[in-house]
Parts: sequence; C-alpha cells; structure tokens
Amino acid sequence: MSKSRDTNQLIASLLRDLASVQPSAQSKWGYKRAASAILNLDTPIEALVRPDGTLGKIKHIGPSSTRIILEVLRHGTSPTVQQAVAASGRGSEVEKRRDWRSNFLSRAQVVAALHNSDLKGPRRSDYRGDLQMHSMWSDGSTSLEALIEACMARKYAYCAITDHSYGLPIARGVSMANLARQHREIDRLNLKYSGRFRMIKGIEANIRADGSVDMEPEELARLELVVASPHSALRAVADQTTRMIVAVTTPGVHILGHPRGRMFGSRPGVTADWDRVFDAAATYGVAIEIDGDPSRQDVDFTLARRAARAGCLLALDSDAHSPDQLDYAEIALAHARLAAVPKSRVINTWPIERLFEWAGTRRAAR
Ligand SMILES: [Zn+2]
Repeated sequence: MSKSRDTNQLIASLLRDLASVQPSAQSKWGYKRAASAILNLDTPIEALVRPDGTLGKIKHIGPSSTRIILEVLRHGTSPTVQQAVAASGRGSEVEKRRDWRSNFLSRAQVVAALHNSDLKGPRRSDYRGDLQMHSMWSDGSTSLEALIEACMARKYAYCAITDHSYGLPIARGVSMANLARQHREIDRLNLKYSGRFRMIKGIEANIRADGSVDMEPEELARLELVVASPHSALRAVADQTTRMIVAVTTPGVHILGHPRGRMFGSRPGVTADWDRVFDAAATYGVAIEIDGDPSRQDVDFTLARRAARAGCLLALDSDAHSPDQLDYAEIALAHARLAAVPKSRVINTWPIERLFEWAGTRRAAR
C-alpha cells in the first residue's frame, strides 16, 4: 500500500479523544476545533516544525494542543492524552470512537494522494462529473443553476442531481410532484447549457431496513440515475449483508451510495460481509460509491480495493450540499487512487453517452 503514516490524522484523533473526556463544554469545543484545524492542513504537520523543534503558529491551535502535537512528533503518541483518558475511566468508550475513525484521510493525505504519480488510480483530470449532490429541492443550500456553474468551473461535463427521496422527511425528501417540477427545471437548464454541460436527473433513494428502496418501480423509472443509500440502522451490531444485497439487486438502482453509512468518530455504520455485497454489485453492474464527504469517506480505500478486486464499478462522488462542497470529490478520488481502482472502472471518468448506456441497461433489467 502506497500510503504513508498519517500523523495529522493521528494527532486529530488524539485531540478528539482528549475533547471527549473534557469536563467543560468550552475545552471540549477547543480541542475539537484544534482537531479540525489539523485535519484540514494541506501539508503534513512534520513540515511545519521549525529547525529548533518548535511549531509554527497554526490557526485555531492553542498552547495545550501544541503540546500534544509536539509529544506525538517526539514519541509517536501523547502521554498527556493517555493519562487524561485513563483518569477519566472512559477508556473503552474512547477506544471504540478511535475505531470509528479508522481509514479516514486527512486533507494532507488527500493532497499527497492526488499528486503522487506512483499511484495507479484515476487522476483529477480524468474526472468528468460528480454523481451525488443535493440542491435546495431537498436539504442542499443552493439552486440547480448554481451547481451547474460550480461544476463547470471545475471543468466537469456533467453532474447528477440526487436530492433525497420522499421517504426521508428528515432530509426534506422531495415529493413526486416536486420531482416532476424539478425535472422541468432541469430540462430548461439542459437546453440553456446545451453542448456545454448536462445535468442528469437523479435521486438519492433510501434503503429501508429490509433492503428495499423507498420508491415504487414506476417512480424509479422516471429517473436517469438512482443512488440508493442507507440512512437508518447505522449503529446496529447485527449483520446486514442481506439488506445490502437486496438493495444492489433491486431493479433500477445504479449506485450503492455511502454503503456503510459510517460517521467520523461517532458511528460505525452497517456491519456486513462486504465481499458478498461487492460480488452481487459486480454481477448486477451496480457501482459502489466512494462518498467524499470528509466525515463519511465511505467506502474507504481498503474496501474500495476489495470492491475493485470483486469486479465492481465505482462512483466517486462529493455528496455536496453546497457548491463549495463539490471539492469533496477530491477526497473520493484520493481513496480510489490509494485503492488503485482502474480508471476504466470509475464511472465518473466515462463520457456521458457511455454513462447513459450503462444506466439504461440497469433500467432495462426491470
Ligand atoms: Zn445519503
């Protein structure tokens, strides 16, 4: 594996551990903010150490966090954090949360993976379009046209709008009546941007506990691209292999979105025999998503490698809820590069004609 030690991620994780055992809300907040600052650095922390061993000023990092950082740089771990965790008597809880941060990449690792020419996966210049994003038609912040402009600024040729389905009211899921209205708006925009950009009519459908999706077959048929994702039972310990296999074998589903449903340091996501899920996805031609949201990074590079070995297609998406979050696609790209997913298997690198051809075969299976 061509991934070096991620000191920024290690330090951020320790700062989060320390935050979790703080008695006051203010110090909790301070350490969490410091952890985010480290995760968002473009460079490895080692590069910011001065010749005299002190650390240059980093925004949002105070003296007590600096002390933790220097301990890690000197000893590979932080005795201060270890002692604080031990004294809190909450070691096992902290340990569990640590597991829920595994295989997340810091910003510095993402930048390194994008620039490391030894990696075999897709490059940023290969990426033609983002296939999961949300607009103000559901829980996103912006208009369809603003998303088109933001995608074009990134030199994309297409994008899929995948607002939440009506089965997920908590995310302001879009009703079928509103979806019809949205489609008229997309038609209008595709005419306006004709020859320059194409917006794909998609949805993020919700995978229910039994693996079925929360839309009727004839409703799915009205969409050009269906991402199906789990949004419930994401802390259950019980095996959910069957749920995920039912989802990927459901006619009309194109992409298994954020397959685990994990969340950085706060929940583990779905437990499943992923190799069996990937085998089913490969057989049915369903793409496995690498969701680039920094707190999701789902699937990560280790699972993405297994999906690629199983013969799966992969979709690298931002899951953006605002135009600036379209940059999250870079995080998905970094995981794909670390996983050495062949470019030809990444559907976002395909010309749109090929994308529609593939999507059509998934629809025809109905
Ligand atoms: Zn989702």
